[in-house]
Amino acid sequence: MNEKVAGLSNDQINKELYSAYLYLGFANYYESVGLDGFANWYEIQAQEERDHAMLFYRYLHNNGEKVTFKTIEQPESGFSGNTEPLKKGLEHEKYVTGLVNDIYMAAYEDHDFRTMQFLNWFVKEQGEEETNAAELITKMELFGTDAKGLYALNNELKGRTYSAPSLRL
Ligand code: MG
Repeated sequence: MNEKVAGLSNDQINKELYSAYLYLGFANYYESVGLDGFANWYEIQAQEERDHAMLFYRYLHNNGEKVTFKTIEQPESGFSGNTEPLKKGLEHEKYVTGLVNDIYMAAYEDHDFRTMQFLNWFVKEQGEEETNAAELITKMELFGTDAKGLYALNNELKGRTYSAPSLRL
């Protein structure tokens, strides 16, 4: 693996762990305002982000690369309302999509087909993450504005369960 691809992949471990930390922060916020379904949704999201970090970790080790852990940034807190974390979530996923694309471009330029193959799963996953984040905002804006609607939406999100990523390395 060339230095750029390895370096960006190593950085991605940090970014995915930051994502987990950010989403745990969202869960923490929702927990504090009594929206346990929203909290559940983001707790599971945080678990998935940790899985993403582990996939990069495993991929680098499988290819004989050294992994270096860096400081994980403090996530934002103190949100002004129940929709704000959802909007920040979508913004963040778009940023992560950009990061995955950057690694893909570096792999492409190096004709690193193995890494491109590995990243294909993440390209698809990012499409799903953006769709899910956008759907949450739409639902919140449509139904979350009155107490009954918010109660129902919170109950719906309580039903999300964790499943391990479909990609195995
Ligand atoms: Mg991720």
